[in-house]
Amino acid sequence: MSNIHEMGFIKEKIDELKQAGLYKEVVTLDGPNEAECSINGKMAINLSSNNYLGFSNHPRLKKAAIEAIEKYGAGAGAVRPIIGNMKIHDELEALLAVFKKEEAVLVFQSGFNCNAGTIQAVTEAGDLILSDELNHASIIDGARLSKAKKATYKHSDMADLERVLKETRSEYNNVLIITDGVFSMDGDIAKLPEIVELAEKYNCMTYVDDAHSSGVLGHSGRGTVDHFDLHGRVDFTIGTLSKAIGVVGGYVAGKKVTIDWLKNRGRPFLFSTGMTPSAVGSIIEAIKMLMESEEYTDKLWDNARYFKEKMSVLGFNTGESETPITPIIIGEEAKAIEFSKKLFEAGVFVSPIVFPTVPKGTGRVRCMVTAGHTKEQLDRAVDAFTKVGKEMNII
Ligand SMILES: *Cc1c(COP(=O)(O)O)cnc(C)c1O
Repeated sequence: MSNIHEMGFIKEKIDELKQAGLYKEVVTLDGPNEAECSINGKMAINLSSNNYLGFSNHPRLKKAAIEAIEKYGAGAGAVRPIIGNMKIHDELEALLAVFKKEEAVLVFQSGFNCNAGTIQAVTEAGDLILSDELNHASIIDGARLSKAKKATYKHSDMADLERVLKETRSEYNNVLIITDGVFSMDGDIAKLPEIVELAEKYNCMTYVDDAHSSGVLGHSGRGTVDHFDLHGRVDFTIGTLSKAIGVVGGYVAGKKVTIDWLKNRGRPFLFSTGMTPSAVGSIIEAIKMLMESEEYTDKLWDNARYFKEKMSVLGFNTGESETPITPIIIGEEAKAIEFSKKLFEAGVFVSPIVFPTVPKGTGRVRCMVTAGHTKEQLDRAVDAFTKVGKEMNII
């Protein structure tokens, strides 16, 4: 028998992935995340980041981080319920509440942690969590931590959502309907007005994860609730600070009573150290920039429209996207991975996204256009897509 510590059982699984062409290696960026940057030692146009507004290497965010380090140090010291908040944490949460037009906000160390902590804290045995079938992995994992029953409805299918509610609502105490605000792999927007109406009709709670809408949709990136003018009608809004905001972290926005409860029962808040002062300082600066001006979100949307129009004219299948997320759907997983490799050789870095991140047979590359790209960079990216797309008989 082989020695278990050789990890033979893991090696076998890796070999299976390799044979199926599904094994992924993680590249290394040689410097900051920019619209065009050095990756594995080679310059490429970066269409893989969620740095929608170009904030992650912005001078104002960097300066704010340095100032926060000088004032508060490098680390938070312990979990917040034990060591306490730093003033800078309080300041960020107050600012986010104003930005989101909600009573209160609690910041977590990541968007993932928001879902891991909040869903289980606000549901219990006897409840139902009703989730769009394409919801993000962190929602799925967050729901798994809850003792409530789980069910899914077909993607953005309001008739199916109502069917489930009609058939099962009476069997449960509370029902929590959860949706991504913007679906991360396809870029379509949740039908939030209809979801909220159904929730009100069947007396359910609503939970929207605005990871890809924070900094992107609504006035100055206030998210889908603002985009659809549903203020006050969504119970739990999750936002990430890791994507458009350019740093790291996440937050839950909602009623003050919800936030008070999460400070007592949100496990990542209770058992994981608070965000570093530098991250918090940068995020405060980013939110202030969004509150000052819509120039960043306007530039993002202008670039996104420009790129998407060109790609669809070329004949690429860009799916159902309504946002800057631009999937180029290829189908076969190995072909999507090959497409990405060839694009990198042609000077464009765009990651392949394959099963299990997206359903089998819908492998794709996902182009993330940002406010930081110039039209000239986008044109060069389009040229590379044209060349490789023709070579591989995709267009
Ligand atoms: C990216 C993402 C998250 C995770 O956010 P992080 O801040 O990166 O942990 C959560 N939910 C959705 C829908 C996401 O797209």
